[in-house]
Amino acid sequence: MAVALLEVRHLKKYFHTAEGVVRAVDDVSFTLDAGRTLGLVGESGSGKTTTAYMIAGIHQPTSGEVLFEGRNLAGPRSRELRRQIQMVFQDPGTSLNPTHSIKDILTLPLRVHGLARGPQLEARARELIEHVHLPASFLYKYPRELSEGEKQAVAIARAIAVNPKLIVLDEPTASLDVSMQAWILRLLLELQQEFGFAYLLITHDLSLMRNFATDVAIMYLGRIVETAPADAFFTRPRHPYTQMLISSIPVVTDEEEALKPAQVVSQGEIPSPVNPPSGCRFHTRCPRRFEPCDREEPVMLELEPGHCAACHLYSGGQAAPSQRDNP
Ligand code: SF4
Repeated sequence: MAVALLEVRHLKKYFHTAEGVVRAVDDVSFTLDAGRTLGLVGESGSGKTTTAYMIAGIHQPTSGEVLFEGRNLAGPRSRELRRQIQMVFQDPGTSLNPTHSIKDILTLPLRVHGLARGPQLEARARELIEHVHLPASFLYKYPRELSEGEKQAVAIARAIAVNPKLIVLDEPTASLDVSMQAWILRLLLELQQEFGFAYLLITHDLSLMRNFATDVAIMYLGRIVETAPADAFFTRPRHPYTQMLISSIPVVTDEEEALKPAQVVSQGEIPSPVNPPSGCRFHTRCPRRFEPCDREEPVMLELEPGHCAACHLYSGGQAAPSQRDNP
């Protein structure tokens, strides 16, 4: 059986705070194959960014495993493994050193990883800046002279400088205006087609996934509640939380409206990850909850090839039907 590029197994990250133990990530598993894009989606506090930080090596897991091409990433990572997994952060303003020129920013990882030296450094920096469609003259500018979108393009050029196999994208367009968002997304797609990177895209914005992700995983309160290929995800969402998120995406055409699930309105606020609800963690907000939901934790079931959801509606339970629903 082919080994996945990235496999996450039962990953947990607990933080000890004055309020108690925050279960930021609480038993998360998924895989990502080479050249594909997994969108990890969730509201604020769902644990998606903490998951990304563990994969990138910024946080150490409380327990669980991160495997890259079958190798366990526990403990200090070799330089080679650090090269293979790169990250692009949400705010390019803080991720680029303001005292370094763009050329210095792009050549630093080349020097650290021994990938170029002498005149090769400038030549490679020129290649990289061209790959992200910025003029070569930008090599002699500083981050403060660039727009937010241009800074993010430089951050992407820095990430691809070392020829990684996986790039973790943490809300890469969240700080950009709409036209810059579209430009950065097109750039990322183009680079993926040319170089075959796999992307793990962290976002709270489901609509961003439509034209970008090949696969989607939805997180709620530290757990994944649904995973699916992107097509199935948008046309046949199965978990009530996913249906709620998709039903609230604005659409333009009648055809898109017809594909949306019936409006699912959640109740209440997101509970605290310090004291998550018993049973299904979504039961305090779910309009379709029924008898076992507040005491029995649903298991993840494969409902069709590659499409899984953790919900009692699919494990033989009974609940009030809803319009245009899929179970
Ligand atoms: Fe709603 Fe119950 Fe499914 Fe949870 S398990 S999403 S409460 S129906």
